[in-house]
Amino acid sequence: MQYGSDILIIGGGVIGLTTAFQLAGQGVSVIVVDRQRVGTEASWAGAGMLPPGHAATAATPEARLRSCSYDLWEQFSAQLRELSGIDNGYRKCGAVEVGLDGPAVDSQIKQWRAEGLDCDTLDRAALERYVPGLHTQFQRGAFLPEFAQVRNPRHLKALTTACQGLGVEIVEDVDSLTIRAQGRTVEVNSPSRRFGADRLCLTAGAWTGQLMKPLGVKLPVAPVRGQIAQLRVGQLPFQCVIELGRRYLVPRADGLILVGSTQEHVGFEKRNTTEGISGLLGFAESIVPELGAAEVVRCWAGLRPGSPDELPFLGPVPGYDNVFVGAGHFRSGLQMSPATAGILADLMMDRTPAISLDGLSPTRITMPSVV
Ligand SMILES: Cc1cc2nc3c(=O)[nH]c(=O)nc-3n(C[C@H](O)[C@H](O)[C@H](O)COP(=O)(O)OP(=O)(O)OC[C@H]3O[C@@H](n4cnc5c(N)ncnc54)[C@H](O)[C@@H]3O)c2cc1C
Repeated sequence: MQYGSDILIIGGGVIGLTTAFQLAGQGVSVIVVDRQRVGTEASWAGAGMLPPGHAATAATPEARLRSCSYDLWEQFSAQLRELSGIDNGYRKCGAVEVGLDGPAVDSQIKQWRAEGLDCDTLDRAALERYVPGLHTQFQRGAFLPEFAQVRNPRHLKALTTACQGLGVEIVEDVDSLTIRAQGRTVEVNSPSRRFGADRLCLTAGAWTGQLMKPLGVKLPVAPVRGQIAQLRVGQLPFQCVIELGRRYLVPRADGLILVGSTQEHVGFEKRNTTEGISGLLGFAESIVPELGAAEVVRCWAGLRPGSPDELPFLGPVPGYDNVFVGAGHFRSGLQMSPATAGILADLMMDRTPAISLDGLSPTRITMPSVV
């Protein structure tokens, strides 16, 4: 059997699905193929934090992707709700940064303000207004009122439903795809189907490097495990995200609190460990002591697509006319997904992306041939 489409996307995480959504909205015919159910890997496992940005002053590739995405999230969420009937839980909840001492607060605030972000310095009394019951070890902090969040599983469901509504064909549980280079183009087949398409987009998260091996291209994307513990409390003791370095507490409107996250280089082992979860529970209690009495509802782990400089690889795959990649978003794939999808859609439709690709090219880090 032979089918054709304009664009074939391999990997239905938040990056692949958002790209499919944008392309389908422009009338492009899209197929998304995944080896399991779409939206069940890192994109499902994440905490859904959306830090603010200010596109006009964004000076780094990270700030550009963050801020251009941030500007889209509210409207994107409303659009998904309208198309799918599912609310992804988008809300501006604000974030308190704790653990910043003396000059560290001032220098962090200065940096945020230079980026044009709204932020306030907090003394102990102000900290307590945002987080009643905050551990007394914290005397100063900062507040970012524009910090937002979504609920990942709901967002993925809304996105998948909206994609289908726009005519995207989603093909799941295809675990034996063959990807073969034919000169400067690529062919994709499964045992029952030849996936004909003008353009191919590889968005397989932490697995993208493996997927590219048959093309003779080495993409340095590696899995970085993150574990999360989910707590339930009778009444939320705080409404905003609390961040300390790379760990955080994310309160959901229905009384759940996510405690995240570990950062472990353990290959493709997606499981919880005693050490990982006990570390997270101890962290939660060290921030808000009353969380020691919270119910532990469940724990999970996900594999972030890590890259050497923690930035994604976006653009055409060298040596091929019809292959593009969008992978390696590490800790920021959800927040950066709207702008990333815009870039990938523009590139595949031969338009110049509105956002600069400087620092994001798949060739910025040496990509020697595998063979
Ligand atoms: C614990 C944790 C917390 C996080 N918190 C946040 C956060 O608060 N904010 C934020 O922005 N980001 C966060 N992240 C990071 C974010 O989740 C990732 O950057 C993002 O989900 C990556 O999306 P993706 O689509 O590239 O990959 P994935 O969601 O992993 O999707 C890849 C897809 O490719 C498929 N696939 C793989 N191999 C193949 C193959 N051979 N053939 C077909 N399909 C294949 C998989 O089945 C999967 O569906 C967090 C991650 C974790 C683990």
